[in-house]
Amino acid sequence: MKYLEEFRDPQLARRLLDDIRSITTRPWALMEVCGGQTHTIIRHGIDQLLPEGIELIHGPGCPVCVTPLEVIDKALEIASRPGVVFCSFGDMLRVPGSGRDLFRVRGEGGDVRVVYSPLDALEIARRNPDKEVVFFGIGFETTAPPNAMTVYQAERLGIPNFSLLVSHVRVPPAIEAIMRSPSCRVQGFLAAGHVCSVMGVQEYPELAERHRVPIVVTGFEPLDILEGVRRAVRQLERGEHVVENAYARAVRPEGNPAALAMLADVFEVTDRAWRGIGVIPDSGWRLSERYREFDAEHRFSVSGITTREPVECRSGEVLQGLLKPHECAAFGTLCTPRNPLGATMVSSEGACAAYYLYRRLDLAPPRSGAAPEVTPVV
Ligand code: SF4
Repeated sequence: MKYLEEFRDPQLARRLLDDIRSITTRPWALMEVCGGQTHTIIRHGIDQLLPEGIELIHGPGCPVCVTPLEVIDKALEIASRPGVVFCSFGDMLRVPGSGRDLFRVRGEGGDVRVVYSPLDALEIARRNPDKEVVFFGIGFETTAPPNAMTVYQAERLGIPNFSLLVSHVRVPPAIEAIMRSPSCRVQGFLAAGHVCSVMGVQEYPELAERHRVPIVVTGFEPLDILEGVRRAVRQLERGEHVVENAYARAVRPEGNPAALAMLADVFEVTDRAWRGIGVIPDSGWRLSERYREFDAEHRFSVSGITTREPVECRSGEVLQGLLKPHECAAFGTLCTPRNPLGATMVSSEGACAAYYLYRRLDLAPPRSGAAPEVTPVV
């Protein structure tokens, strides 16, 4: 398949690995930001093929994983109400709230529907004017533009029974928070290519300069990852710290102007809580004043719901790259994809799910207290 097979070519992968080996003189720790990249790395064993001493730390870039428990609880509360059609992408249905998940709400009679686009939810609203239709709008800069466009359309078409439960987050403030953490070991970043295809790379040079870290915009196929690692290591070996675009087939420096304009119209930047991490300043979006009437949190008065994260789940440390999934005592025992304790085990992009899916049989059984002491980001 075009743009897939050629980026999985074993011979080219060997050449890139040889190149990385030839330029590496000392250990380096790189963070791949996106959960999709983590899955490629673990699935193809890329971390095991790299020269010894090059560590890939798995970052927080899984949209389902970073959605706070209390937002899930708000979704459950709204979805349980009579007269509500609650629409979501399928991966959110199994994410546990503090007591149940959206599947359970559906089993109990709630009208919970899986849709493939927020526009599907808007169409449901248009056809059912007697219902309140809510779309669960989570994720990074990649999913925010279509959600913004849906709200824009709802206003333009006069569909008042549609609303958005918003929990959108932004990558650059998370990188800032990771770099400020006293426990941070990250020396270079593989930035998420799809995020940059929307946002461009304008926010990254300042981060690279301030924290003296190379940032390489990287794609999602095995050769993309290897090329991202190669460029980051080359910079580190040379003592450089600039932004490079290794995903030029999808990313333009200025991003996608139409998407950026839509985001600027519908959303405004706000502080956001990240699951297991806490509040990161300016790290998210909410609906702007003009579109506030489409805010489900406001419409259903669920802002007051607050929830504590379960103490046994260490996904916050996993999401900050401070802990590998198998170092969590619950990994593969109390916590499995069938009975997940945290979102990083549920989500198809979650690091815990990746380790369970591709590597659990190779790993030593987790030992209680095996994980190192760490200092959280915030
Ligand atoms: S293995 Fe389960 S309990 Fe442990 S951090 Fe991952 S999701 Fe949380």
